Amino acid sequence: MTFTWHRHHPRSDLHEMLHEAVPLDAQEQKILDAQERAFIQRRSMIEMHMQTANRQLSEAITNHPGWTPAVEAAMQHVEQAAADLQRETLVHIFEMRAGLKPEHRAAYDHVLIEALRHGSP
Ligand SMILES: [Zn+2]
Repeated sequence: MTFTWHRHHPRSDLHEMLHEAVPLDAQEQKILDAQERAFIQRRSMIEMHMQTANRQLSEAITNHPGWTPAVEAAMQHVEQAAADLQRETLVHIFEMRAGLKPEHRAAYDHVLIEALRHGSP
C-alpha cells in the first residue's frame, strides 16, 4: 500500500514558482548561494521524515485497517513533516527576499502575496 498524501508540497512549489517568476541576478545568486544549498538540505531531510511517516502509516493500516493509535501516531508524523516543510519553505522565502536587491522586492512580494491569496499553486 502506498500513500501519496502530501507528496505535492504546496509551499515548496511556491519556492520554485518564486525562483521562476523573479529570477536571481548574478549578484543575488552569489549572496543566496549558501542559503539555497542549506534550504535544499533541510528540505531533503524533511522529505525523508515524510517518507518514513508515510511508510509507518501504510504499515499501521496494513497491520490493522482502522483508526488505531498506531494510525493516529503515524498521521501525526505525516502532519508534522508537512508543517515542518511549510515552515522551512517560508523561512527560506524570506531569506531569499532579504538577499534580493530592493528594486526586485516589489515584484517578488507581488508573486508571493498573490500565490498565498490563491492558496498557492
Ligand atoms: Zn530559493
